[in-house]
Amino acid sequence: MKTQVLITIDTEFSVGGAFADPERNRPVGPEAVFCEVGGRSHGLGFLLDTFAEFGTKATFFVEALNAHFFGDDPMGAIARRIRDAGQDVQLHLHPCWTYFERSDWRSRLQSDPPSDHMHSRSVDTLTGWMQQGIAAFERWGIERPVAMRTGSMMADRNVYRAMEAVGLPLASNIGLAVYRPADPALHLYSGVHRIGGITEAPVLTYADLVLGERTHLKSLTVTGTSWGEARALLDAAQDERVETVVLLTHPFEFAKYTSPGFRDIRPNGINQDRLRRLCRHLADNTDRFETVPISGLQTNAVTNATGRNTLLRVPVHRTLGRILENRVNSLRSA
Ligand SMILES: [Zn+2]
Repeated sequence: MKTQVLITIDTEFSVGGAFADPERNRPVGPEAVFCEVGGRSHGLGFLLDTFAEFGTKATFFVEALNAHFFGDDPMGAIARRIRDAGQDVQLHLHPCWTYFERSDWRSRLQSDPPSDHMHSRSVDTLTGWMQQGIAAFERWGIERPVAMRTGSMMADRNVYRAMEAVGLPLASNIGLAVYRPADPALHLYSGVHRIGGITEAPVLTYADLVLGERTHLKSLTVTGTSWGEARALLDAAQDERVETVVLLTHPFEFAKYTSPGFRDIRPNGINQDRLRRLCRHLADNTDRFETVPISGLQTNAVTNATGRNTLLRVPVHRTLGRILENRVNSLRSA
């Protein structure tokens, strides 16, 4: 059995501190996705070049509600560029952007502050946001999405009910170390699962340190997971016949910058190296691994979904190696 590897990239603009201090800060648009240094993109450009070099199939969850601030043009152009590079474009939603619907948003910040939560919402509210996102894809000239990821991986049953109502059959809304839903039925570490009528492929959550009774959980990301850990997890997924390994990243993880505002952008060499090693390894081991876009799950993993929920572990020396590597990366300024 090949392990299906889903590299998923949440592609989004940044509020850039505008809610905290609207006089000094403004939302950051394409700069937060391209992360350009000297005309070279260390965010989206780096990702698309790397995937083209190694024949990697990835999924970009493209945030659609930012149109309330930016209009259609900037993210529409980004979505078309991703599609034209042959990659999967699916829906990502951060409802905080709907705060900009009203022109008096600055004066409401104290009395009625913005919220980005997607859990604890009514099905009607969620359905409305999803329909806005689907409509944005249509205006952008992008094929209707079949998959969604909620902002900050916040989910409850109503999210899945709303997805069913609008016709979004595939989800990757769960990453337990990012957000832990209250509903134990959503405590999914790995694999492919059915939640109502929706197929969910959670971001891989694994155990890195076990201290007595306590198990420390991490979700698989480029910033949080070293190449040694990722490689050990891929092998463990093969050994334990886990159907899918889902990795979460963002274009801005491949650059360093000063927040808020994405000033002083420079490349993030360690994170770029981690992604290149992963893509090369997957290309060199196609007998064991296959990169698939989430839309590809419609035809294969859905019918084979076992619903098994395996918690993979990485050896402790890998974890200690990553802690050291990330320390070095944070000390390296430019
Ligand atoms: Zn997001």
